[in-house]
Amino acid sequence: MSNKYDVIVIGAGNGGLAAAATMAKNGYKTLVLERHNLPGGCATSFVRGRFEFEVALHEMCDVGSAEKPRPVRKMFDNVGAKVDWQFEHNCFRVIHEGDDPYDVVVRGGWDGFLDSIEAAVPGSRDSVEKLLELGKMTQDAMTYMDSVTVPVQFLGKYADFVKAGCYSVEDVMNYLKVPLKAQHIINTYWSYLGVPTDEMNAMHFLSMVYSYIVDGAAMPRKCSHQLSLSLCQTIYQNGGDIWYNSEVTDLLFDHGKVCGVKVGDKELYADDVFANTIPNNVYNMMQGKEEIPPRMLKLANAREIGLSLMTAYLGLDCTAEELGIKDYTTFVTNESDPRLQEERSASGGFYIVNCINVVVPDSTPEGTCSLFISMPLFDRDFPKDLTPDKYKKYKSDYVRRYIEHFQKVMGIDIMSHIEEISIASPVTFARYLNTPKGSIYGYRTSGWDNVMLRSVCEPMDFKIKGLHFVGGHHVMGDGFSSSYLTGANAANALIKQYKKEGK
Ligand SMILES: Cc1cc2nc3c(=O)[nH]c(=O)nc-3n(C[C@H](O)[C@H](O)[C@H](O)COP(=O)(O)OP(=O)(O)OC[C@H]3O[C@@H](n4cnc5c(N)ncnc54)[C@H](O)[C@@H]3O)c2cc1C
Repeated sequence: MSNKYDVIVIGAGNGGLAAAATMAKNGYKTLVLERHNLPGGCATSFVRGRFEFEVALHEMCDVGSAEKPRPVRKMFDNVGAKVDWQFEHNCFRVIHEGDDPYDVVVRGGWDGFLDSIEAAVPGSRDSVEKLLELGKMTQDAMTYMDSVTVPVQFLGKYADFVKAGCYSVEDVMNYLKVPLKAQHIINTYWSYLGVPTDEMNAMHFLSMVYSYIVDGAAMPRKCSHQLSLSLCQTIYQNGGDIWYNSEVTDLLFDHGKVCGVKVGDKELYADDVFANTIPNNVYNMMQGKEEIPPRMLKLANAREIGLSLMTAYLGLDCTAEELGIKDYTTFVTNESDPRLQEERSASGGFYIVNCINVVVPDSTPEGTCSLFISMPLFDRDFPKDLTPDKYKKYKSDYVRRYIEHFQKVMGIDIMSHIEEISIASPVTFARYLNTPKGSIYGYRTSGWDNVMLRSVCEPMDFKIKGLHFVGGHHVMGDGFSSSYLTGANAANALIKQYKKEGK
């Protein structure tokens, strides 16, 4: 049958492309189906005038250097996908405007980080160093976890990791006696995982933060579109195929096992299907089918949808130096506590400004630069009377407030330099990514739904035979790195099973 594949992948986002590239590279007949006309999902770019804008990627963790590759670089190398990796080795600048204001540039590297926090909060060094040591242990433990099959071995070697896995970031920081101001500065990173640090799992957070401090924040030279294209190239080179403008609308079953999908009125068959779309969408496709275990439906209904953003992409007719911008990532807050930053985000409590020219000077035409402004925005923040005719004005007014605020904070003029501007809201992301409420982070990784428990419960929670979930909504939580790794891990597990079956 020409329409029979070894695997079909629903969605060409990071998780889907990583799974497809891994399957194709190992010789399995692979088809990716993407509802859009482009690959990447979040990992893409768009062009306005003479600017190419990155849609999503601020920073990626777990890439590592060529000499000391970390899991994401290894994944790209393993499938033969070439990426021109760039790094920012400073962590961030945080400008806090509220009570007890501060303006701190946090440098990267073990000593750079400790020196920066100590300079801002004298006397914090020892406790922050203990935190870094715990961060190192989480990385070592995670690497070790992948290599052992007997849990008892793991418990014996990394008992502290397992113990700390039950606590929030703030529980652990309080235990280590990290001064509150130092906690606030370090916890500025909360927005990258979308959950305030009183609720965020300590091990999840520390593993990301440690990677940014020690490895640096990675990005490809030419927008995340380059990452997506490099994986597409690998898929094609290994005999796989990608169909665009192909929305999957149903799953097909044979004796209780997924055996294919429906695209329009076409039926396509496969031994296994990877879903890079959020489980809510898959269960909606399967409505009325008895193959969805009740536990899976209950889980999807119980989970909280993750964060979304309002984003503004600005192309400016002057350089970053002319503007006086020296930092790649600047966080601006008017609350120091992450919980309040989240609760009050819609009233300017928290936003991020990135200037890619600081890392890749020629990423925009000569004499120009670009700014990428991200403002957390929750469903609850949308005015209840927002109608389609008011939407454009709402978006513009919302973003104008932030640009004006950033001008004031930095003492610079941005407005008169704007050559191009584009704005995306949760509505844009919902339409583009097909996610509920425009979530860019899948489900909120908090409470009982944290990544530690997700990993442990995965075999119990996902039991539709022949269906494998991959992406930012799955066990490792949101983000570029985790979505790639869920794709590669799910594919490698399937390959192992196929090999056992002699396939
Ligand atoms: C503005 C923004 C900033 C971000 N910043 C960062 C950052 O700095 N660092 C970081 O690590 N992460 C960041 N993220 C999060 C990160 O981009 C995501 O977690 C990650 O890319 C999600 O990948 P995914 O594999 O889940 O796929 P998605 O990107 O969600 O893609 C899913 C794909 O599936 C397709 N699809 C859906 N339904 C169907 C269907 N029925 N049939 C066919 N195709 C379908 C969609 O069209 C889409 O292409 C950001 C995201 C956004 C939007």
